[in-house]
Amino acid sequence: MREKKWIDCPACGAKKSMRPQKELTERIVLSGYPPIQIDGLEGQFCDCCGEGFWSRASERRITRLLTQHRAVEDSKRVVAADLASVREAAALLHISVQGVHKMMNDGRLPFVLAGDRKMPIRKDLTQCAREKAQTAISYPAR
Ligand SMILES: [Zn+2]
Repeated sequence: MREKKWIDCPACGAKKSMRPQKELTERIVLSGYPPIQIDGLEGQFCDCCGEGFWSRASERRITRLLTQHRAVEDSKRVVAADLASVREAAALLHISVQGVHKMMNDGRLPFVLAGDRKMPIRKDLTQCAREKAQTAISYPAR
């Protein structure tokens, strides 16, 4: 997909105020976690109000790094009993082990790092399985 090029600001309505910017650093605060600083970002932002959009690549970078950040922080406080193995996760979500890894890498399934292993968090899995079931109910016809 092509990146949309903004000219007028959709937030404040200023004309020709949107500028591409590179090498940006963003400090992100997730509630319940220490702040994280992410650099090397790019996007288009308004000269007048500062509103703007990250590029798709930057959005993916933010999602990936936030997921990692959560994982590292969670691994300090989540106990072993709260964790599920990837195999358990696959069974619960009715997907393959590879599918579970993909969801974790995409930031769709929270996990913690136990050593160098990624382990899904049990309560998030249950939540995820429930959402999946609801989606299946919403779109029954094929
Ligand atoms: Zn603006």
